[in-house]
Amino acid sequence: MVDLPGPKSKFLQVRCPDCPNEQIVFDHASTKVTCLVCGATIVRPKGGKAEIRGEVVKAVE
Ligand SMILES: [Zn+2]
Repeated sequence: MVDLPGPKSKFLQVRCPDCPNEQIVFDHASTKVTCLVCGATIVRPKGGKAEIRGEVVKAVE
């Protein structure tokens, strides 16, 4: 789990917890994000910074 301080919102490349798919997600997502391949929940909104369920591969500038 990567915890980067700072008010700036970021896009993250995240690997699905259930399959090898990787996709770009917003780390302050206000809606649930599901894997485009298998449908697993990747990001859960949490009122502010979202909870990332997959593995964060890298931040996307
Ligand atoms: Zn998946």
